Amino acid sequence: MDGVTKVYGKGESAVAALREVSVALHKGSFSAVMGPSGSGKSTFMHCAAGLDRPTSGSVHLGEVELSRLREPKLTELRRERIGFIFQAFNLLPSLTAEQNVTLPLRMAGSRTDKTWLGDVMGRVGLSDRATHRPAQLSGGQQQRVAIARALVTRPDLVFADEPTGALDTRTGREVLQLLRQVVSELGQTVVMVTHDPVAASYADQVLFLADGRFVGQLEQPTAERIADWMTHLEPSDDANGGVR
Ligand code: ADP
Ligand code: MG
Repeated sequence: MDGVTKVYGKGESAVAALREVSVALHKGSFSAVMGPSGSGKSTFMHCAAGLDRPTSGSVHLGEVELSRLREPKLTELRRERIGFIFQAFNLLPSLTAEQNVTLPLRMAGSRTDKTWLGDVMGRVGLSDRATHRPAQLSGGQQQRVAIARALVTRPDLVFADEPTGALDTRTGREVLQLLRQVVSELGQTVVMVTHDPVAASYADQVLFLADGRFVGQLEQPTAERIADWMTHLEPSDDANGGVR
C-alpha cells in the first residue's frame, strides 16, 4: 500500500479515514493491525482487500495494482486471491461444513482438489464434522469452518477481522493457534484486525493505526508491549470530551 488516503464524504462533513498510509506486508508473514476505535482499521482492510477504493494512492497485490481493475476483475481477484474471516463466521446455515468450505471454489467455477480439501479439513480439525450444518457446530468449530473456507482457494492473502471477537477466551486462543500454524506451516500470509493485545501477540508484527495514520510497528511482539503501546494510543477522555 503506497500513500493511501481514503476520504469519506465531501466538504464540511468529509472524514479522512486513512491518511497517506504506506505499508508492505510480506509473503508468508502474520500481521496484526491495531488501533483505537475509529482509527481506520476497517478502512485499511477494505482498501487493502479491494473491497473499497482509495481516494488517492495505490494498492498492489503482487504485481497487480487493484485501483486499475474494473469491478468484475476486482471481484474475480478477491474471490481467487484473497480469503476472508469475519467475527460473525458468516457461514450459510443451509449448507454443511464441507459445502461451506467449497463454496468459493464453486463460485469461481474451479474444480475441488479433493486431496487439498481433505488436508484443509484435517488441519482445522473438522474431518469428522464435514456433513454437519453450522447450527450443529460450536462457535469455535464454525470459525474453523470459516478458516478452511478462507484457505481452500490457496489465496495469496487472508484477512481476518476480529476473528476471535465472538468466541470465549479458550476457544479464541485455539483459533489464534490455528492461524499461527497456517502461517508457520503453510506459509500463508495473514493480516488480522484486532483490539486484543493477546490476539495480536500471535502475529509476527503489529502495525498501529491512530487517526488514520500508521504510527508505529512492533516486531515479535509480546502482549505486554502491545498493551503498553495501546495505552499510549487511546485518546484520553479529556482530549475528546469523553465522546468516542
Ligand atoms: P475502525 O475500524 O478503526 O474503528 P473505521 O475504518 O471503521 O475505523 O473508521 C475510520 C473513520 O472513518 C471513522 O471516523 C469513521 O467514522 C469513518 N468512516 C468509516 N466508514 C465510513 C463511511 N462509510 N462513511 C463515512 N465515514 C466513515
Ligand atoms: Mg472497524
